[in-house]
Amino acid sequence: MSNYFQEEIETASREKIVEIQNEKIVKQVKHVYENVAYYRNLMDKQGVKPEDIKSIDDIKKLPFLTKADLRDAYPYGLLGTDLKDCVRIQSTSGTTGRRVVAFYTQHDIDLWEECCARAIVAAGGTNEDVVQVCYGYGLFTGGPGLNGGSHKVGSLTLPMSSGNTERQIQFMMDLQSTILCCTPSYAAFIGESLAEKGYKPEDNKLKAGIFGAEPWTEEMRKSIEKSLGIKAYDIYGLTETSGPGVAFECEEQTGMHINEDHFYAEIINPDTGEVLPEGEKGELVFTSLDKEAFPLLRYRTRDICVLSRKKCSCGRTHVKMTKPMGRSDDMMIIRGVNVFPSQIETVLLNEGYAPNYQILVDRKNNTDTLDVNVELLPEQMSDKVSDIEAMEKKLEGAMRTMLGIGPKIHLVPPKSITRSEGKAVRVIDKRKLV
Ligand code: ADP
Ligand code: ZN
Repeated sequence: MSNYFQEEIETASREKIVEIQNEKIVKQVKHVYENVAYYRNLMDKQGVKPEDIKSIDDIKKLPFLTKADLRDAYPYGLLGTDLKDCVRIQSTSGTTGRRVVAFYTQHDIDLWEECCARAIVAAGGTNEDVVQVCYGYGLFTGGPGLNGGSHKVGSLTLPMSSGNTERQIQFMMDLQSTILCCTPSYAAFIGESLAEKGYKPEDNKLKAGIFGAEPWTEEMRKSIEKSLGIKAYDIYGLTETSGPGVAFECEEQTGMHINEDHFYAEIINPDTGEVLPEGEKGELVFTSLDKEAFPLLRYRTRDICVLSRKKCSCGRTHVKMTKPMGRSDDMMIIRGVNVFPSQIETVLLNEGYAPNYQILVDRKNNTDTLDVNVELLPEQMSDKVSDIEAMEKKLEGAMRTMLGIGPKIHLVPPKSITRSEGKAVRVIDKRKLV
């Protein structure tokens, strides 16, 4: 049976949602035009006035915002309110360059935390749960977002932050945590550490995990679900839109519902900017419909995914997005072939390896090279060099089938690849370092 944090809005009819969006967009564009000079200039250049935006369909007339605009406008250029009305600053984790700083009024924090509360309830959370939050706290949005959401649900919240895995496990066991929130790579590490300590999946009291902030595959989901004995739910968000909770998975686990009463999503062709119809793959663009302090309109996320309005068995009516399998800038072009790290992860897990790997890209003699270090499980270790070589060859073959090009595989001993406590660094592209 489904539970909702805000049933009325989460299950509202399509007409109702559009009505809310129509009303909010008109106000929001006016707010931005009047208060954010940077965006006003972009609108003026495009010849659009706030009066031209009469309904959500008119959103197409507005200019896009990109990460480059955010960097240009750093730190205060996109602020929509007086600083004295802001109560919080958060920042991106800086995965792809200079950090972006986002501002929040109390209203913005409340709506963000409500979105996270919806995610927790969708994962089965109630006020009887013990929610262990091991996303990083501080400037990163993961910890504060889920922490606030858990408070709103009334769950007992453990603000652990990331790292210190020994202590995570001790508290998890002693305080009987039921919901775990962290990056999928850290969840995998916690699972591995529990097994090393001799715990079986049924020894912990966890029932669900809410994992996001980085791309992860369906294979990774299965692997984490097995190692922790839980159901693993995806959660998506970015600092620019507030943080995690912009979209979250329900019990169907077939994509994430976007909180459409607060965020309007479009999919565009990343090369032309053309808006694509539902079901087509492209770049996700978000408009925050009611944020005050950092109200981004038509922000290009660079995350590639597909939207679907197919009826969901959970009863929620909000549009769903597929897992973004990496950002457009995560894509590696190796000898002219597009390769996503997630494709490599899929092959590894399907071939029975653990999700501990590192991808090394370089250019030698004007040719791109792709090497993947893959950690062996203790039971996969062998003294025979020929065994290891045969395993490497087999994996290279499977990779070639998936990617269209064959990487060089290096099987390395257990525990030789550094574990991640936050967002995993999967790719080292030396071509970008020169
Ligand atoms: P940074 O850009 O420095 O990583 P953020 O911490 O704001 O800054 O991260 C937001 C980005 O993280 C998103 O744009 C997306 O690429 C990625 N992300 C967040 N949640 C997910 C998820 N569930 N699946 C895949 N990618 C995700
Ligand atoms: Zn659903």
